[in-house]
Order: sequence, then C-alpha cells, then structure tokens
Amino acid sequence: MSLSRKAFLSRLGLGMIGAALLPMTTHASSLQSLHQLADALPHTDRLPALFIGHGSPMNALADNPFTQHLNKLGQELRTQCQIQAIVVVSAHWLTKGTWVQASAKPKTIHDFGGFPEALHQMQYPALGSPLTAKAIHQLVQTIELTEEWGLDHGSWTILHHLWPKADIPVLQISIDFSKPMAYHRELGTLLRTLRSRGVLVIGSGNVVHNLRLSIPRLMSQDSRPFDWALDFDNWVGDRLEDQDFAALERYETIGEAGRLAVPTTDHYLPMLYTVGMAHKGEQVKTTFNEVTHGGMSMRSFRVG
Ligand code: ZN
Repeated sequence: MSLSRKAFLSRLGLGMIGAALLPMTTHASSLQSLHQLADALPHTDRLPALFIGHGSPMNALADNPFTQHLNKLGQELRTQCQIQAIVVVSAHWLTKGTWVQASAKPKTIHDFGGFPEALHQMQYPALGSPLTAKAIHQLVQTIELTEEWGLDHGSWTILHHLWPKADIPVLQISIDFSKPMAYHRELGTLLRTLRSRGVLVIGSGNVVHNLRLSIPRLMSQDSRPFDWALDFDNWVGDRLEDQDFAALERYETIGEAGRLAVPTTDHYLPMLYTVGMAHKGEQVKTTFNEVTHGGMSMRSFRVG
C-alpha cells in the first residue's frame, strides 16, 4: 500500500483491516465514489445505528414488553431524526458475496413454516430505494445490486412495530456467510458514512440464539433462561459497554457458554455490522435486555 493511499484510508477511518479484507480500489475511484454518494444521498445529521434481537416471528403479532420497546424506539427516532431510508442486515439473508436489495417494491417474504395463518398473511408494504442501493454499491463496490429477495422476517417483524405505517423505504444487505468474523465488522465501518446520509442501518439477529435447546421451553411456555445464556449475554453486554468490539469476534474463546450461545453465527453476525458503525468513543446504549425461553437473548441496542 502506498503512503498516500494509507493516509487517505486513514482519513476516511477505513483502516488497515478493511484494506486487507475488502478488494482494493484506486485512490481516484474511492474519491469518485464519495462524490457520487454525496450527489445521491445528501448530508444529514448523524443517525444512530441499531441492533435489534428479533426472536420469534410471532413477535410481529404480539403486544409484549419487547414489541412495546420497538414502538417507543420508533416514535423517538421519528421525532429525533430525518430518516430517508432504512437498511437492514438480517440474520435470514445469507449469501455468497454481499448483495444489496435494489427493487423499488420489495416483497414481504414469509421465510418460515408452521405459524398461524395471520402471520403468513402479514405484509410490510414499504417501498424500496434503488437510489440508496446504488449509492451503497458506489460506496463499497464489492456489494452487488440484486432484485432478488425482498424483506424477510428478520426485517418486517420488527419494522411492523418500529414504523407501523411502513412509510420509510427499506432495503436489505445480505450476509456473506463465507467470510471471516472480521469482514463483517469492517464492512459495517465502511458503511458508516451512511449514518450521515439519512440512512438508518439496523442489524437484526440475536446475541444468544440456540433454537434447538430453546424449543422445549418455547413449547411449554417456560420463559426461564439457561445460566450459560445469561452468562454469555452478560459477556457481550460488558464488551459493548467497554467498546471492546474486536473481542466480540472472538466469542469462541470464552468456552462452553460461547459454543452454546452461538451454535451457528447467522444471528450473531448482524451485531458486528452495528458495532462496526460506531465512531471512536461513541457509547452503546442498551434499549432492551431480556434472556428468555432458555437460550434466546432479545438484547437490543443503539450506537449514537
Ligand atoms: Zn431469526
């Protein structure tokens, strides 16, 4: 890497890891990308970035402390911020390569089975934002545009409570499941500029998500958490409070609790996008915290 490129990336806050993990672009094309981004998405006050623990799809139909928290958070954000578009990184869109959903009218995807008909009938009729999708591609050119997919339940079950009117455009970015942990946090950092362009980014997953071990308690409506789930959730909470985000990539090093809490990384990775969007010294504020039905953490937070 030349000194001038290094200095340039450093000024942008992109750093060395991103340069190592993401394909290089030239200095000139990076500058051009930023100009194009500014043209497409004008500057705004800096928005927060959210992580929401989405839990069961049935939350879409529920009125409970978690969904009430989403209602309140949505109302607060609506009065505090000028949100032009919402980008969701959902645990339920796993791909090879990273994709951004670019259709004007994303469909509501019912990517589950065995739930009541009322849930299968639900629609979240928000428009998409091809303009924002294109700007994201210009900002990080390895993120490709697609008209496949739509809004999966990692998006619409929470958006239904955050913005019930569905009057803000929504698009999703996929999770490249072939990439190492560091890639996801670094990609969040590369997308951080969007916070100052009226784009609210939401990671949607669960800090602790062991469905197999939780099913017996879900079936018997036993909401008590397992000790290892509480331990792991507290470990994540401490790392967030200390702003020690790099440690979150090494969840396996804490042993049995990490292995049980994150049996697969799909629901854990969206959190790394949210913390990747934090500026240095920016605090993480917990908006909801509950570990329930054995191994399911509903911990939700915001940066900024
Ligand atoms: Zn899920």
